[in-house]
Amino acid sequence: MFDEMPERTRALKDRLEAFMEAEIYPNERALLEGPAGPGLWSPVPLLAKLQAKARAQGLWNLFWNHGPEGAGLSNYDYTHLCEVLGRSLAAPSVFNCNAPDVGNMEILAAYGTEAQKKTWLAPLLTAEIRSCFAMTEPGVASSDATNIETEIRRDGDHYVVTGRKWWTTGAMSDQCRVAIVMGKSDPSAPKHRAQSMILVPMDAPGVTIERPLTVYGYAHPPLGHAEITFDAVRVPTENMLLGEGRGFEIAQGRLGPGRIHHCMRFIGLAERALQILCQRAASRTAFGSRLSDMGGIRQVIGQSRCELEQARLVTLKAAWAMDRHGNKAARNEIAVAKIAVPSIVGTILDRAIQVHGGAGLSQDLFLAEAFAETRFLRIGDGPDEVHREALARAEIARHVAKVPA
Ligand SMILES: Cc1cc2nc3c(=O)[nH]c(=O)nc-3n(C[C@H](O)[C@H](O)[C@H](O)COP(=O)(O)OP(=O)(O)OC[C@H]3O[C@@H](n4cnc5c(N)ncnc54)[C@H](O)[C@@H]3O)c2cc1C
Repeated sequence: MFDEMPERTRALKDRLEAFMEAEIYPNERALLEGPAGPGLWSPVPLLAKLQAKARAQGLWNLFWNHGPEGAGLSNYDYTHLCEVLGRSLAAPSVFNCNAPDVGNMEILAAYGTEAQKKTWLAPLLTAEIRSCFAMTEPGVASSDATNIETEIRRDGDHYVVTGRKWWTTGAMSDQCRVAIVMGKSDPSAPKHRAQSMILVPMDAPGVTIERPLTVYGYAHPPLGHAEITFDAVRVPTENMLLGEGRGFEIAQGRLGPGRIHHCMRFIGLAERALQILCQRAASRTAFGSRLSDMGGIRQVIGQSRCELEQARLVTLKAAWAMDRHGNKAARNEIAVAKIAVPSIVGTILDRAIQVHGGAGLSQDLFLAEAFAETRFLRIGDGPDEVHREALARAEIARHVAKVPA
């Protein structure tokens, strides 16, 4: 049942696998390292060429199910494809399925006005431009979004945005044209009505990229992560998303699908890691034995398969629940996957690194960078503890409600 999919999805998957073999793996390092020197934040010319090929083969916007610009798949079906493209960190940008653009496109589709869609969504769907999502701030514990302090103040027919953000993924890209900024528009409102989200063009006066941030030393070109200041940036009132005080509503709508896409991709990374772990173990001899004949290593392989199946199943269940019941009703399933998958995948990557010895830590293999990526997701999109807390709340309420008075 779990790998059942409609014929069209199966055909897309076959085509995607062939594209990965022919175009992604051979070009992976070139795509991930970016141009040398000051051009680091420009995409390598190869990216546009591969994007054009992906579009021509119908492998474009595979996540998109709102209209003719995408594949129109359910979350469940997309899981199978996302796993394939997740096998390489270089692939999502080639298929226009990368974070944070996917989440931002979903926001614009769900909450944008027709004018906002025309200005920002249309060029995102064709990858003419890139975008970023600026919520987290260095000055406050941002896992609690009610803490966000950036000010969004109304001034006539404009809003004035003032604050400092960091870890804004995508903002280093020289194609990044717009930020979705979260900030307080009414500090006196009840805490879940105090925040708004507003579209801020990256070239608006007062927007300054202060510095790039690295993850375990990886700069992640061409998207990167930035620290940004917004110094009394004036944007027209039409740039407000959904309405003043509706930032939380949007944040909840955004993070569900985004979180689950990370999980889907990570399963692909773990499959690839387990594959090369086995291949390496079968090709190396130490102390008179092939590594793949050693009991300790065989245990690691068997255990990895068990854990990987668990990761896939919780992700498929979350995707199924989103399709069947909607993102909000599926929040517990999404939280389970968001907590479980990065941790399992990180452990499998770590084992693959260990079995490769020094090579596992080098730039010659995808393992070290992939490990850094999975480590980030135990914090990004909300730390594990926050999701466990939400699950505990739901679990206790469920059981306590059942106790007779
Ligand atoms: C590579 C990367 C990319 C990112 N991309 C983006 C982006 O594009 N846009 C954006 O806005 N943000 C982004 N982030 C930021 C990320 O979402 C935040 O770092 C995260 O939400 C945590 O916020 P914080 O760093 O302020 O940690 P804090 O809120 O200070 O939390 C620190 C720690 O406190 C603990 N903690 C918090 N709450 C609880 C609790 N209830 N129970 C127990 N322990 C708890 C956890 O261990 C947590 O890790 C990114 C982060 C990274 C590393």
